[in-house]
Amino acid sequence: MMKTIDNLAVADKRVLVRADLNVPLEGGRVTDDGRIQAALPTLNTLLDRGAEVIVCSHLGRPKGAPDPKYSLAPVAGRLGDMLGRRVRLAADTVGPSARAAVSELRPGGVVMLENLRFNAAETSKDDVQRGLFADQLAELADQYVSDGFGAVHRKHASVYDVALRLPHAAGYLVKAEVDALGRLTANIRRPYVVALGGAKVADKFDAFGSLITAADRILVGGAMAFPFLVARGDKVGTSLLEASQVAAAADLLERAAPGQIELPSDVVVAAEPGGSGTVVPANAIPSDQMALDIGPQTAMRFAAALFPAQTVFWNGPMGMFEREPYAGGTLAVAQALLDGEAFTVVGGGDTGAAIRALGFAEDAFGYVSTGGGASLEFIQGKTLPGLAALEE
Ligand code: ADP
Ligand code: MG
Repeated sequence: MMKTIDNLAVADKRVLVRADLNVPLEGGRVTDDGRIQAALPTLNTLLDRGAEVIVCSHLGRPKGAPDPKYSLAPVAGRLGDMLGRRVRLAADTVGPSARAAVSELRPGGVVMLENLRFNAAETSKDDVQRGLFADQLAELADQYVSDGFGAVHRKHASVYDVALRLPHAAGYLVKAEVDALGRLTANIRRPYVVALGGAKVADKFDAFGSLITAADRILVGGAMAFPFLVARGDKVGTSLLEASQVAAAADLLERAAPGQIELPSDVVVAAEPGGSGTVVPANAIPSDQMALDIGPQTAMRFAAALFPAQTVFWNGPMGMFEREPYAGGTLAVAQALLDGEAFTVVGGGDTGAAIRALGFAEDAFGYVSTGGGASLEFIQGKTLPGLAALEE
């Protein structure tokens, strides 16, 4: 059993909470606050119980040094609004500003440390270097709470090493993720149908391989479909193709049972993402056009395949949903999940953002995971460093 914050006596204690507040920003504004929302239950509970809360997170991929572009300032502002309390942002992560802010904390107060990845040691492969940074993080607090599910697959100082240095527990988000994703790893109710899309193809192919063993059917859309179409002998025009993945796609097609992998039969194409689209067969994409969504016939086939499912895992939008003409496939898959009876897990940062942007209520789905890579690794049965550290 995983210990949660309900097993920690936190009153008057300094509690370091590793959250995943890596939200999308545009012009210094938070465009989707789903991950901040997901951190609230743990933070509110700790604050109500009289803890002195120190929140830390990474944001984007700064190069191991402070970079104002990746400051957590907009996130601290939004978190403060959502908590209805002042969130004081330190100007550094473990330096003088952080130490001063923490020393002035009172029960019910919140300090946010600046972006963890302003420190090269946070993500270092060197255990000693990471350990020294974890020592500094641990010095700020009495206890450690792991609630940044989106980062638990990383062996990073704030995720792994610091848990070994302080009394620790899982936050409610990590607990909920582990419970929901656990239903995709054991005693799976069948049929189990998986829908995979999005643009990070290489990152997801490992998971694809193990899903061939676990799932009854795999529906493929988004840019994920292009290496498969090419492997099958089709041309994909100027579509976003990860050409290095064509051989891997051919291998997956070979390993899968006949009909287990379903590819788009029609797609929406345009000369560029700005234009309005035209529907063409998936094996007839014009050489000067790119496919930006699955077509209506594919959307209907996918909906029909999802309907009898008892368990569904969906990761990756079916098209460039951010633009209205190419949101149809993603909308159709989301709607099919609501119409069916399956226990549904939606994973992936952009997939979660997509259902919110398209106006669906998150709680209409069985579970919306905040972790992209982390959820994919979890359902493969891999050991995630941030979860293993909590067992110690
Ligand atoms: P997630 O974060 O849910 O794991 P990804 O990061 O893999 O998903 O991919 C999300 C992105 O994929 C979205 O920004 C979407 O616009 C893009 N995308 C999906 N289909 C296509 C396509 N056919 N062409 C270009 N981009 C696509
Ligand atoms: Mg993404």
